[in-house]
Amino acid sequence: MEYSILTPDERTIRGAARRLAKSEIAPRSAAYDETGAFPRENLKLLAEQGYFGLTVPPEYGGAGASSLAQALVVEALAEVCPATAVIYEVHNTLHVEGIWRYGTEWQRRTWLPALIRGEWIGAFALTEPGVGSNAAEVRTVGRRVPGGYRISGHKAFITSAGEAERYLVVGRLEGTSGRDGMTIWVVDKSNPGVTFGRAERKLGLHASRTSEIHLDDVFVPETHRLGAEGEGYRIALDLLDGGRIGIAAQACGMLAAALARSARYARVRRQFGQPLERFEAIRFKLADMVRDLHAARLLTYEAARRRDEGGSVRPLAAAAKLFASEAAVRHALQAVQIHGGYGYLREAGVERLLRDAKATEIYEGTSEIMRLILAGEVVRAEAEGQLEG
Ligand SMILES: Cc1cc2nc3c(=O)[nH]c(=O)nc-3n(C[C@H](O)[C@H](O)[C@H](O)COP(=O)(O)OP(=O)(O)OC[C@H]3O[C@@H](n4cnc5c(N)ncnc54)[C@H](O)[C@@H]3O)c2cc1C
Repeated sequence: MEYSILTPDERTIRGAARRLAKSEIAPRSAAYDETGAFPRENLKLLAEQGYFGLTVPPEYGGAGASSLAQALVVEALAEVCPATAVIYEVHNTLHVEGIWRYGTEWQRRTWLPALIRGEWIGAFALTEPGVGSNAAEVRTVGRRVPGGYRISGHKAFITSAGEAERYLVVGRLEGTSGRDGMTIWVVDKSNPGVTFGRAERKLGLHASRTSEIHLDDVFVPETHRLGAEGEGYRIALDLLDGGRIGIAAQACGMLAAALARSARYARVRRQFGQPLERFEAIRFKLADMVRDLHAARLLTYEAARRRDEGGSVRPLAAAAKLFASEAAVRHALQAVQIHGGYGYLREAGVERLLRDAKATEIYEGTSEIMRLILAGEVVRAEAEGQLEG
């Protein structure tokens, strides 16, 4: 299906990413899910073929493509390997974009090339054991010392922790509370005092490592602070706007996979002397899937386009993530149902869609938090007389 919102360049990138995903990444996807091994091979391939740093201008080693092009790559990857898609998404949309949007000229020139060539995988560390939905409560603390900071804290649920070479650590200056003192530091895996927890055992996304990070009096030079002191909350939330569009795209990919597999199975599986696709109960499930796939894509693509145009994209990104993630979970469940008993077996691969899709309703802001953002926007717009209708 072609969408008129896509430019010719975006169509080309989408086509190339889908071909790469189908030919190179799909064949080893089930094995990665089974073993939980980190998909280095996939990431190396994506970097070699120019998919890292897509939105970064060419003078810093990127491709100068749009946020929508990046979302299309996430979607293509998620259709065949949602774990690779989320590692790619965090690396590019949160970490690389963070350095590109908020880094100093020295940070951009020094760090982006290695991140774009895939020599470093980047992570984004906001969540802590006691701090999730309310980012302003982070307790990781940076103490000013000559030449930089000493960081201490405990991060939890961090995608690629232990595998990634570089971490955007969201913490706060010593003695501050709330949003005001929040600051982001760039921490190396090899910094003395940085240690990682075990790989968490998860419902899905097995090949995407999720671990805790312990920071014990880690020295970070002044040059490794991203943005100004006290700007961490604003930067983290801005990056999450882009990240949520990425997660919406990941959900679209899984939704597309649920639809394609369900339609294929409904054609080949026969019961009562006819293919399943002749039964209205099955046809209506397929109809709802394709309706929601179009709606999820259009919301996601529009949000991605608006992000490049500047201005606040927060409510639209929240709407895209909320709609696409809930649709992905709902229809992955229906895909299992359409496959009957076989859907419950690993071999069919649709139970994996259900396990993997559930995470999209949780990370980078839960569905409840997306609803709070949207409701807040409606209430504000109404009070200001700006609500259309
Ligand atoms: C696989 C995976 C990968 C992740 N990767 C990363 C990563 O790379 N970096 C990172 O920083 N974090 C990461 N996370 C963490 C993720 O972003 C958090 O789990 C998420 O933001 C929710 O925080 P929490 O788990 O502490 O839940 P809580 O905030 O404790 O929420 C628990 C429940 O209460 C609800 N709730 C909370 N507050 C409200 C409210 N005000 N109103 C209504 N309901 C509310 C939530 O929606 C949720 O249903 C990852 C999580 C997972 C599962």
